[in-house]
Amino acid sequence: MRHIAIIGSGPAGYYTAEAAQKQWGDDIRVDVFDMLPVPYGLIRTGVAPDHQSIKGVAKRYEATALSENVRFVGNVMIGKDVSIAELQQCYDAVVIATGAPHDRKLDLPGENLANVYGSAAFVGWYNGHPLFADLDPDLSHDTAVVIGMGNVALDVTRILSKTRAEFAGSDIVAHALDVLDTSKLKRIVVLGRRGPHQIMMTPKELGELSHLSRAAPRVDPADLPELGEDALLEPGLRKSVTHLRSFAAIPESHYADCPIEIEFDFFASPKAILGTEQVEGIEVERTVVEAGRATGTGETYVIPAGLVVCCIGYRSSPIPDVPFDERAGKFANDEGRILPGIYCVGWARRGPSGTIGTNRPDGFSVVEKIAEDIAAGLLGHGGKPGRAGFDEIAAARGLDVVTFRDWKKIEAEEEARARSDAPREKFVDVAEMIRARGE
Ligand code: NAP
Repeated sequence: MRHIAIIGSGPAGYYTAEAAQKQWGDDIRVDVFDMLPVPYGLIRTGVAPDHQSIKGVAKRYEATALSENVRFVGNVMIGKDVSIAELQQCYDAVVIATGAPHDRKLDLPGENLANVYGSAAFVGWYNGHPLFADLDPDLSHDTAVVIGMGNVALDVTRILSKTRAEFAGSDIVAHALDVLDTSKLKRIVVLGRRGPHQIMMTPKELGELSHLSRAAPRVDPADLPELGEDALLEPGLRKSVTHLRSFAAIPESHYADCPIEIEFDFFASPKAILGTEQVEGIEVERTVVEAGRATGTGETYVIPAGLVVCCIGYRSSPIPDVPFDERAGKFANDEGRILPGIYCVGWARRGPSGTIGTNRPDGFSVVEKIAEDIAAGLLGHGGKPGRAGFDEIAAARGLDVVTFRDWKKIEAEEEARARSDAPREKFVDVAEMIRARGE
């Protein structure tokens, strides 16, 4: 019997557990740890609340979680409650699947002003992540700036644009819905330091901006390259650019009846965030793009704004005693191998890119590496205590471990207290989650 500990119960974690089951069948025991009492990581707290079909993949993870040889171990923080070295004493392999929960920094003056948020915090707020539930952003200004031209920028822009009625069927948390109801936003500027041909937004997500009840996208036709140049783009990006072209063709009269404009500001690199206590604006430098790279032109301007959300990517969170690549913001690894017996997978391995599905081959690949290392005799000859060893440590420390059965009770409580048009009302506080588990 071999034992694997997976740290993180998001997509990368559960795809790795699934791959381990396929590889070893009854000869494996897998413990999936999470610092929260609830599973699924990014599916719960990252994927947008109005993208329920994407969240549906959790059913697949549940099937893995419910199998005999996989166990969910919630409410345990590795690196704090239990060390990596202790896990290694219990398990043959430790796989880090903790994603990239921290915001990349802009490193610009004013970044710490009030009402300037990174997307990890802002997305965590509207998705009910306990760490960000208290964010309470101020939406009483008429302009917000969203920095970045990726899918997270689109998620944030869409959430800021929707009416309460448009959230029907979503699991946006009540505290976010209440604040969004107070919004006075009239203009959301989406800032990209490069041009329309360099956006990271995917077509389906970009197309959603055309169907908002009180907001419409605006693209300046002068920013678009010659139509013929689109032929050189890969098909997905070409489709996204086609959406931008359709936004540029929206007649001016349409905006007269439209309470919120979503303005794409291309070739615009942030220089400083302005304000005394709370953000009051952002200074931006015009760029030109040559060979795919943005260069400043020296021409600057100020966009007055009362809210800034930086959607410029994420970093992983280091774990004591595990080598970390500070520059890249992820674990130092060679195709998922960090140190003998310690591996990483998903965003913790490759950085924050790709879709949920990208993590499936990642999970299978790391399990292949573990199998190779076992075959090469690098992971000992078995006989580690596995779950029983961890349970002893947990009992000695009085850790309040949350099981998958506990989670199912929490989930039932979240479903029972949902708004009539929502699948669930999440608990946003760890103590409340634990209470919901009952005795
Ligand atoms: P992303 O796709 O990498 O986009 C980051 C954006 O930030 C880019 O436009 C980048 O511009 C810009 N940026 C980076 N540093 C900057 C700086 N210093 N100043 C100004 N702009 C800067 O990252 P993401 O949006 O966080 O998404 C992460 C991953 O999750 C992606 O793979 C995404 O597709 C995925 N995701 C998918 C969905 C979905 O499928 N519905 C939803 C959300 C996220 P440059 O290109 O110029 O660097």
